[in-house]
Amino acid sequence: MPELPEVETIRLNLEPRIVDRSISGVDIYDVRLRWPVRPDDFRAWVHGRSITGLSRRAKYLIWHLNNGAAVVIHLGMSGRLGLFPTKTPLEKHTHVVFRFDDLQVRFRDPRRFGLVEVVAPGELDNYVRFAHLGVEPLSDDFNEDYVARTAQRSKKAIKLWILDAQNVVGVGNIYANEALFKAGIHPTRPANALKNNERRRLVKGIKSILNTALEKGGTTLNDFRNAHGEPGFFQQVLTVYQKEGEPCTACGSEIQKIVLSGRSTFFCPSCQK
Ligand SMILES: [Zn+2]
Repeated sequence: MPELPEVETIRLNLEPRIVDRSISGVDIYDVRLRWPVRPDDFRAWVHGRSITGLSRRAKYLIWHLNNGAAVVIHLGMSGRLGLFPTKTPLEKHTHVVFRFDDLQVRFRDPRRFGLVEVVAPGELDNYVRFAHLGVEPLSDDFNEDYVARTAQRSKKAIKLWILDAQNVVGVGNIYANEALFKAGIHPTRPANALKNNERRRLVKGIKSILNTALEKGGTTLNDFRNAHGEPGFFQQVLTVYQKEGEPCTACGSEIQKIVLSGRSTFFCPSCQK
């Protein structure tokens, strides 16, 4: 599943190729995504407009247009956004194609849990899908004071607190497991029981694991352009995720696995207290 670092990598890769260029047309081959694609919106707000910038909110990629409208894209479970020369044949499961004069940005999604939606001019601040999102983990707003303020009301396991996008966005299951290992915090600890230094280590751990993933994201550029293969990041830097029974890289204890609210949870029983 594409996570925050993959979406940010896509944003950084697309930016120099499509900003300040105009969209000559949008071809919609299948409207049946998680929410239906609305061709009328694309005709009204997107055709013939140019892109003034790209941004990201949580795992949503946002294309800002020169009429004040925006295109919002979410990759869902299996979505990919690829840059192709116009003459490259369309792959199966390509649902939406944005045409520029000599290239195309294609949205491909075999499982169709993704989203490609137009937000009318001036409506982005009121956009319903962003209404309940918490802070961005890589922003300065995500700090130990923020965690102290918001986690003090929550008795739920700290790992579930991290996964809740109303607290902090875009930290998926893999990153939550890895960040808690880095921070030396047991995943089942109640969120409101963390001490000051643990909150500091948690914030640092989350930022560090996401930044590492972003750096590795650069190496998936070719995969992304070709829209083939899986990102290389996961195998390279994982320390606990799916490592049950293997020795901890720090202390040699056996990594354990439990299930927390349906999500696989991995930890070192010695390093994580
Ligand atoms: Zn250990």
